[in-house]
Amino acid sequence: MQRFVADRMLGKLAKWLRVFGYDVVYLRQAADEEIVGGLSEGRIFLTRNRRAGPWQHLGKVFVIHANEPRKQLREVVQGLRLAMIDAELFSRCLGCNCLLETVSREDVRADVPDYIYQTQDQFHRCCDCGKVYWSGSHSEKMRQQLEEILANTAYPDDR
Ligand SMILES: [Zn+2]
Repeated sequence: MQRFVADRMLGKLAKWLRVFGYDVVYLRQAADEEIVGGLSEGRIFLTRNRRAGPWQHLGKVFVIHANEPRKQLREVVQGLRLAMIDAELFSRCLGCNCLLETVSREDVRADVPDYIYQTQDQFHRCCDCGKVYWSGSHSEKMRQQLEEILANTAYPDDR
């Protein structure tokens, strides 16, 4: 799977790509040395900035043109030919990019609302921030949105 570094203009796009399961480092300050560091790890730099920087010669820069996060996602998906792989969906923490671990219901009892505990049986926890995820309506909604984004391929006209 491709891995990314996203600049500070692309926080929402970074989250969307994490929903897909992509490893995205989000740079709040977009410092040049962090970008170069990310690129040397084989990451692609996603940016809204066309200005040449010290990373330019590394050649793995993808400039995003759209303002709206969903259109940005479509640009990346089409431009880099990303696929939606079911097994990778929702495998990462949207906040900190860490891979989620499967945990038992008992483990999360104190951390989720009662009705969620009662009605869900699959839980995942971020090993970094500890946030608990479950496959409820929220994920289903996001999956539908992703499918809509991927199904709509007429982007040169509507961006
Ligand atoms: Zn986390």
